[in-house]
Amino acid sequence: MASDNSLWKSSAVDVLRADPGFDLDNFDRKGTPGFTGNKSDGERLLGERGQVLSDLQELLYANGRSGDKRSVLLVLQGMDTAGKGGMVRHVIGHVDPSGVKHAAFGVPTEEEKKHHYLWRIEKELPRGGYLGVFDRSHYEDVLVVRVHDLVPPDVWGARYDEINDFEEKLVAGGTTIVKVAMFLSLDEQKERLEERLDRPDKFWKYNPGDVTERKLWPAYQQAYSAMIDKTSTEHAPWYVVPCDRKWYSRIAVTELLIDALEKLELDWPKADFDVEAEKARLAES
Ligand code: ADP
Repeated sequence: MASDNSLWKSSAVDVLRADPGFDLDNFDRKGTPGFTGNKSDGERLLGERGQVLSDLQELLYANGRSGDKRSVLLVLQGMDTAGKGGMVRHVIGHVDPSGVKHAAFGVPTEEEKKHHYLWRIEKELPRGGYLGVFDRSHYEDVLVVRVHDLVPPDVWGARYDEINDFEEKLVAGGTTIVKVAMFLSLDEQKERLEERLDRPDKFWKYNPGDVTERKLWPAYQQAYSAMIDKTSTEHAPWYVVPCDRKWYSRIAVTELLIDALEKLELDWPKADFDVEAEKARLAES
């Protein structure tokens, strides 16, 4: 029984990155790409790698406190019940919440509607040293907005380039963006919705509107496909994560975040005081 990361035969980053021509129609939503272990391996690994993630996030936070402007932003997009909330609890739950900037984006408020769609996004961006987490995001403005014709096609059509420019500037400013598109199958979504209706402790998660949205599944798949095609860029690629098996999606996103943090090559910030002099002062006190 392996207790390290050797159960990944290809790294999550390599195997989940949406390459040009990515075909959503034939994407296996029950798959566990790159991973050779089973559910219990995955659950064990989540604890171990969650600790690695936590250590790296502490380094990021420490550097932020010392003036480093860099940050990491996890963007989670997916249909209802794909597991966005569980991702936050089970993956981000490993790290110190003081260093996390979490934001969930629902139907825009009256105030938000008065502004450009990126206005509410900009307000929630992580500062240097922070791990930002977006549960839904500016991509709703090319997904639900497109599917429901909330604005004319030329308006949402122009947003792909605008979003690419916006993200390019963020990256240039020191934010690593980890964009995760979470895909579950229509059958699995039905089971998860049924569970919400069968269990009183899950009623609070049920929204009758979710069943209405299910009927629009093909239109959503088209919108997701276009989103990936047009906004998976060099500076901010999409990672496509199969989500029928929650344990897999969680270890996969953990790996994507670890990779993003490792690439920052962080070290503990140097003391900005004379350590020996301080020791002497402390001893005398
Ligand atoms: P969740 O369903 O994720 O628990 P909420 O019910 O608070 O969260 O809000 C999610 C809903 O808000 C989704 O149906 C989503 O499509 C919708 N939404 C998010 N952003 C927008 C937007 N820009 N325009 C219209 N609807 C949006």
